[in-house]
Amino acid sequence: MGKHLWIAAWAGMAALAVPEPGRAEAAPGPVPAASAARIEADVRFLADDLLEGRAAGTRGYDLAALYVATQYRQMGLEPAGDDGGYFERVPLLKGTLQREGSRFAITRAGKTTDFEFESQCLPGVNFFEGSADVTAPMVFVGQAVRAPELGHDDLAGVDVRGKIAVMLTNAPRQFPIDQRAFHSDSTGKRRELARLGAVGIITLDDPENEKKRPWVLDAPNWRQPVMRSLDAAGRPHDDFPEIRVRAVCSVAVADAFFAGSPHTAAEVYEMLEQGRLRSFDLAGTATLATRATLERIESHNVIGRLRGSDPRLAAEHVAFTAHLDHLGVGAPHGGDAIYNGAQDNAVGVATMLEAARQLADDAAKPKRSVLFVALTAEEMGLLGARQFVADPTVPLDSIVANVNMDMPLLIGDASDVVPIGLEHSTLEPVVRRAAAAAGLTLTPDPFPEEVIFIRSDQYEFVRAGIPAIYLLSGVKLRDGGDGVKGIAEFLAKRYHLPSDDVDQPIHWPGAARLAWLNHHIALEIANDPARPAWKTGDFFGERFGPAASTAAPAPPGR
Ligand SMILES: [Zn+2]
Repeated sequence: MGKHLWIAAWAGMAALAVPEPGRAEAAPGPVPAASAARIEADVRFLADDLLEGRAAGTRGYDLAALYVATQYRQMGLEPAGDDGGYFERVPLLKGTLQREGSRFAITRAGKTTDFEFESQCLPGVNFFEGSADVTAPMVFVGQAVRAPELGHDDLAGVDVRGKIAVMLTNAPRQFPIDQRAFHSDSTGKRRELARLGAVGIITLDDPENEKKRPWVLDAPNWRQPVMRSLDAAGRPHDDFPEIRVRAVCSVAVADAFFAGSPHTAAEVYEMLEQGRLRSFDLAGTATLATRATLERIESHNVIGRLRGSDPRLAAEHVAFTAHLDHLGVGAPHGGDAIYNGAQDNAVGVATMLEAARQLADDAAKPKRSVLFVALTAEEMGLLGARQFVADPTVPLDSIVANVNMDMPLLIGDASDVVPIGLEHSTLEPVVRRAAAAAGLTLTPDPFPEEVIFIRSDQYEFVRAGIPAIYLLSGVKLRDGGDGVKGIAEFLAKRYHLPSDDVDQPIHWPGAARLAWLNHHIALEIANDPARPAWKTGDFFGERFGPAASTAAPAPPGR
């Protein structure tokens, strides 16, 4: 999941959903201890140092994938990958940045300023050429958002041809929530800048992002590879050869960009706050040199199927997903360089496996078939989900809904659950019923403006027109504890760090309750005569649902 938005979502909740301290809620029926123990066992295996953080394309990931396939085989799920097996091939292009030869400098009035690699700026990987050198004028393009439906266009009347575009992240906070999510998507911005003739893009961080996730936390991980999935012609998905150079820069060097220009960095960030950014040429030229090695590799999604019992409905599928990959071995923190990814997302995978076990054990099989898809390369940009949706192992139109779990964050015994994306489709009453049966209340997404809905694998299903929900564990702790504080602590101290390991307190019975909830959501969807549908007039349903394909041409997405 994109890092900044997680932080914002939970940190912001701090002020919101805290139940009165000390008022314990009545506990529903006990979850089977065996269930919690099975989940714990799977997490302890998947998050063990021996799997070296399960980065896509590594031996650690392949061991985790074999483990998941073995679990599917043990519970009697059918193979639903390629060639009659459990594995679906995911071809990837791996890019590894090289410090040697990389450079970023600005020349103005004959004076050249070089920026420091890592501490100030980091070049991006050119997935077409590996190495590229560009010197060109710069133009500031705000957040590079084109939202004609909202009368907002950062690129109107701006000439970016042959220039390097300097942009900020996200979309205006003044936008309605769904539009903000949709237009925050950086791939759509890159596509449009490429179409308008830009030759490079520099993404400048902003004070709010810096506060949520300091530059110094992630910058040292520039050594870790980045990836693209490949289209049928073997070309990188969601990438544009016209954009020959890219870089990201810390907010600490913002002033250097705007010197000699109509506005200072401080003025620009103020305009950002107030939603009145404007685009303008920057003084001087930028020189960007990027160096990277490129390597074609292959990773795998792991797919099992529980065949449905109804002669007609068994041809349709409910797709459960949870990403299996994590960050691998990276910059050490406190001498530990293995990013174990216990909560992100070994817990999500283990909870999905437990829900599968329960469904496979049920005497009455669901009417529709249920797919269990452990996805690769989510941390690399939802690439496993992208491949599955682009080239599914079952007919795409047979998939009636997606239920995704990514870092459900089991920090305590919660009496609630947070279903992200509930409001968009007829999955809402289904989840309400299942939650009630599980003795859980529903807490609405406390920070809708962060729109986590587009930040994990379910968004690839949404973009394919399939209604989806994303389940997060709750924040209303039965012992009266402050769930939001616990989550904020996780994000500050463990998220995407080596300390997201099994030494942290993980509430295993809570995971078992979530597995039970997923079990019952699956049954509800699988046995419902009607397929889930987008709600009339829903933003995502209008853009990606069946109506979209007959109405307007596809909008500029990723
Ligand atoms: Zn994740």
